Amino acid sequence: MQTRQTVGRGKVYDTILDTIGDTPCVRVNNIAPAGVEMYVKAEYFNPASSVKDRLAISIIEEAEKSGALKPGEIVVEATSGNTGVGLAMVCAAKGYPLIVTMPDSASIERRRLMRFFGAKVILTPRTEKGIGAYKKAKELVDANGWFLAAQFETSANALVHENTTAREILADFDGKSLDYWVSGYGTGGTLTGVARVLRQSSPGTRIVLSEPDIAQLIGSGDGQDRSEDGAPAVSHTAFEPHPIQGWTPDFIPLVLQEAIDHKMFDEVVPVSGADGIHWSRELASKEGILTGISGGATFAAAMQVAERADAGAVILCMLPDTGERYLSTPLFETIGEDMDEEETRLSLSTPGFHM
Ligand code: PMP
Repeated sequence: MQTRQTVGRGKVYDTILDTIGDTPCVRVNNIAPAGVEMYVKAEYFNPASSVKDRLAISIIEEAEKSGALKPGEIVVEATSGNTGVGLAMVCAAKGYPLIVTMPDSASIERRRLMRFFGAKVILTPRTEKGIGAYKKAKELVDANGWFLAAQFETSANALVHENTTAREILADFDGKSLDYWVSGYGTGGTLTGVARVLRQSSPGTRIVLSEPDIAQLIGSGDGQDRSEDGAPAVSHTAFEPHPIQGWTPDFIPLVLQEAIDHKMFDEVVPVSGADGIHWSRELASKEGILTGISGGATFAAAMQVAERADAGAVILCMLPDTGERYLSTPLFETIGEDMDEEETRLSLSTPGFHM
């Protein structure tokens, strides 16, 4: 084996924002079933460690272009986490103040991260669900004339995945036939944007959508009541609180509706939170791939596909964010801080430096 070397990127970057996107697709070697090729697209390589960095830069730049956002104007968004972190990073780099509203059930690391980037975080009661946080954001915007990022409705969402995520997938799988592409949805931006391109340029790729087994909004077949601006009017009847943060809000977002209306996915695979946690840990401990609960859940759906796929099938699974964003959540619940029995035994097996 040759000694490992690197050659640099051959350029320097003018801003952290230019490092968003171009995330790697990585082969899964040890836990994939025999006879299929499984890959993950590791969105945690983005500068603020999630897929939502793409959305954040798109919302801000499209609004700058259209004139909807003026220099230095306050940006407001309702977000349970990664969109807030992405927007906080983009707003810090571009000099916009940011106010984020979120249910108080979102993980502590997300709130503190946003504040670390300089954003203001306003908590809303978890009993009011995502819609409560959304209504608070809307109230603040209506009262003050600030700019609402509107991730669930804005055309800048699917657009960025069409122009970046999807193009990267086509380029990286050039010469290989991509048989399955697997994704969950939060806003539906990843799904709708990537599916627009795959349906056109890779029609043989089956698009698999996953959602929580206890909140099958799509699987229920029921529609969503909306107000005039496309925002949800009420919670969807099939929604139940689930542990897969960032997935399936308590309504069907407008951004996702396009994919439903135009049949831009071929099947829906329900996944449990426990399976998401299981596969996130398997990816970390057997592959060295560190992703959150939604990444584990998407991979759980991809494993179901892999078990029944034809020999030689090529499967790509989205991993939306990093596992490090979940240290205070059920993902790390059974991971101790203190030494366990085996660690203590190892420590006592040589004479010095005992606790
Ligand atoms: N997983 C996590 C952890 C997320 O934060 C998000 C975005 N809300 C998603 C998955 C889904 O991405 P999208 O909004 O593009 O559907």
